[in-house]
Order: sequence, then C-alpha cells, then structure tokens
Amino acid sequence: MKQLLTEKPKVLKMLEVDIPKIEKSTDVLVKMKAAGICGSDVHIYHGTSPVATYPRVMGHEIVGVVAEIGKDVTHVKIGDPVIVDQIVNCGTCYPCSIGRPNICCNLKVRGVHIDGGYREYLVAGEEALHLLPRNLSFTDAVMIEPMSIAFQSCSRAEITKEDILFILGAGALGKSLIKAARLTGARIIVSDVVDERLAEAKALGVSEVINSKKEDLAAKLKEYTPWGPTVSIDAAGFPGSLPLLTDLTCNAGRIITMAFLDEPSPVQQFKITAKELDVRGSRLQNNKFKEVIAAYNEGKIAIEGAVSHVLPFAEAIKAFNMIDAGDPSIKKIALSFE
Ligand code: MN
Repeated sequence: MKQLLTEKPKVLKMLEVDIPKIEKSTDVLVKMKAAGICGSDVHIYHGTSPVATYPRVMGHEIVGVVAEIGKDVTHVKIGDPVIVDQIVNCGTCYPCSIGRPNICCNLKVRGVHIDGGYREYLVAGEEALHLLPRNLSFTDAVMIEPMSIAFQSCSRAEITKEDILFILGAGALGKSLIKAARLTGARIIVSDVVDERLAEAKALGVSEVINSKKEDLAAKLKEYTPWGPTVSIDAAGFPGSLPLLTDLTCNAGRIITMAFLDEPSPVQQFKITAKELDVRGSRLQNNKFKEVIAAYNEGKIAIEGAVSHVLPFAEAIKAFNMIDAGDPSIKKIALSFE
C-alpha cells in the first residue's frame, strides 16, 4: 500500500509499505476512503507543531470502510463506513479516570504522536470507530472531526441560550464554531479581518460581525453588548489574543483557548481576578463524534460545503505544495483514496 511519510519537517515521501496487520482481537483494519488536511497537519509538515514527533504518517481527519475485523469485534462489520477517533488514551491516569481521555497524561493522537491516516490502510481498536451517516460522502465526512473540535469548545464553554458568545476569528475553525454554537441558541458576534469570511459568518446566522481591521473592535463590541460577551472563544490564536479577550469579556465570563501557540502572551492577572473570569482550554474532543453524527442525522447541522478541493491521495505532496503557495481559494483539502 501507499503511505505518505513526513520523514522530518518539510520532507514528504510517498512510500510503498506492507498493509498493517490486526494484532488484538478487538482490532479493525480500515481501508481509507478520505482524509482531510488540517492546519495542524501543515504545522507538523513545517516542523512548527509543539507536540508532533518524526518520522510521522500524518492525518487525523480520517474516514474509510471496515476491511477486516478481529474475532472479538462486535460494534462494526466488514463494509461499514466509519470515521476513526484520533485519540488513543491510557485509561489509568487522573484525566482518564474522570472521563476526560482527550487530555490523557499519556495521550497519543493519531497523525501526531503515532501514525495517522495518510495511508491506504490503518488498524484501530473498534472503540475508536464511529459509523458514518449513509448519506454523507467520504470527502465531506472528514469534516466531522473539525466539527467535533467545535462541539468540544462549546461544551467546555457551557454555552446556554442566555449567553452572548464572541468568536474571535472566522476562519475554518471559527465557522465550525458558529455552526456548533448555533445549536445552543446563544446570540453570536464574530470578528475577523477579512470581509469575505465575515460575510460567510453572517450567512451562517450570527447576529453581528466586526471587521477589526476597519473598525474599533472594543468600541463596536460595547455598542452591541454593553457589558461585554459572556463567553469568548479564541479561534484566531495570535500572541495578544488572550490578553485582548480578558479585556473584552464580561465580568463573570468564560474565555476558551484553542490554539497551540508557543509564544507567551502577557496577561494581566488583575483582569482575571477582578472580573472572576474563567479561562479554560479546549483540546481535541471528548466523545463528540457521536454528538456531531447525531446532530447531522437529525438535520440540525450541515457538514457539507466546507471542503473546497478534493485531490487523489497519490497527489498528497502536491496538495501540501498548493497550501504552501497560499492560494486563497483553498479552504479545505480532502485527499480521496477512491
Ligand atoms: Mn483537524
């Protein structure tokens, strides 16, 4: 089979290797059908991920069909279309013991710490597999993973319909957050520096948008919500975004961070103390695939329409070159194994 190996940062190789074998009786061999390229994959490729190790087969937005099952597998059968959970956890550490495997102390993420899905076959335990909706194409189904990240963030924020949610950034993550947050009924305000993204945000049903390059963000927010947003989610993640949100967020509000930003941001502890702000991280997802798939099956959420480019897996290296070239028409690339 073919597999795309990131030998070290910026060195991608398409190699011919053996198909992996089922080892445990609850293992499943998955024949890949599609894999998304995420911003975090681009970081791993560039060598700017603070967590990845090399050499690495990237890919954590991975869907396929069950090709072979171990003798004790009961949840899936051969031919089932599935998405593979990216999280592999130890089950014994403190976060695992309180039901938070996504921040396991021995966390292994497929495509980051262990090999992921940029290959024609992979083996995963049956507990990692979720059945795909039948009416969703494989290339669209890769978006279930980014949506699960947005669901996680909204659940960490404990958003209710009484909240006024401010989302900083209307890129791919910001737009997934809007879709997820719309399910809560909260009023949503979004800022970005690109008008086209703000127009897309508006079309997704947010009440107010602010172009922070053209308008005074703090003044506009004050106009829309005198006390400030009750919840702020950082979907931009630049040095300075966290201190900015401690300024903008209402007293007693929650701030959610999502970036893997290594550079320090100078935060005035005074702001957090005096306003009793809750600053919470949101990483990966905790059992959110089921919720996303259920919301899709109930017609509450759209998964389609986010993938802008589909390339054959054989052209994966070209796909990364296209991203590096900075073509603005690229919103999301899905690699297809068909
Ligand atoms: Mn992703």
